[in-house]
Amino acid sequence: MSTRGCIAFKSKKKGIDWEGVYQHFDSYPTGLGKTIWDVLHKDFIDNKGGIGVQNDGDVSKAIQAFIDINIKGHRSGWSAFPDKCYCHDPAFVMRDGTRDMSITSKESNPLSVEYVYILSPKTKSMTILSSKVDSKDGQILDKTVKTKDGKTDYGHCICWHEELCIVDLAGKEPNWEAIEKLDSEE
Ligand SMILES: [Zn+2]
Repeated sequence: MSTRGCIAFKSKKKGIDWEGVYQHFDSYPTGLGKTIWDVLHKDFIDNKGGIGVQNDGDVSKAIQAFIDINIKGHRSGWSAFPDKCYCHDPAFVMRDGTRDMSITSKESNPLSVEYVYILSPKTKSMTILSSKVDSKDGQILDKTVKTKDGKTDYGHCICWHEELCIVDLAGKEPNWEAIEKLDSEE
């Protein structure tokens, strides 16, 4: 089965914590988490101007460029980042057209977004959220309801996103297996 996630950035909009796009496959830390790290470092942070275009090596600028290209530039989201997106793949676009499928913390659906990766150029970090679920008595609702503390009530269960860890993007690569284990231990 697919593990669904979201590649996001820290939002400056009022009442919104993060904005991002959907990712369909392998969104767990050893999958999407590591892939974001690899692409961000190889193509952006460690990009010293190999094609002759010089840059000043500013990490915050590199993270912002990643966000502009890979999140804001792919509004329909990713099937499998960074190889296949829903907005630049002919087969997907012929089937669905190009749609803005961007999501924010406000209307996110924790039941179908298991991991969220929030990049921040300002703090040079990536916050990883994972979805939590409490089952409860009740029927599945036609429309979900937000609880007072911002959780999503589906009728038969309540779901929310919880912070798993914060990765220092200017530091050493973390142990993705250990981060993933953190999630299953809770
Ligand atoms: Zn695209």
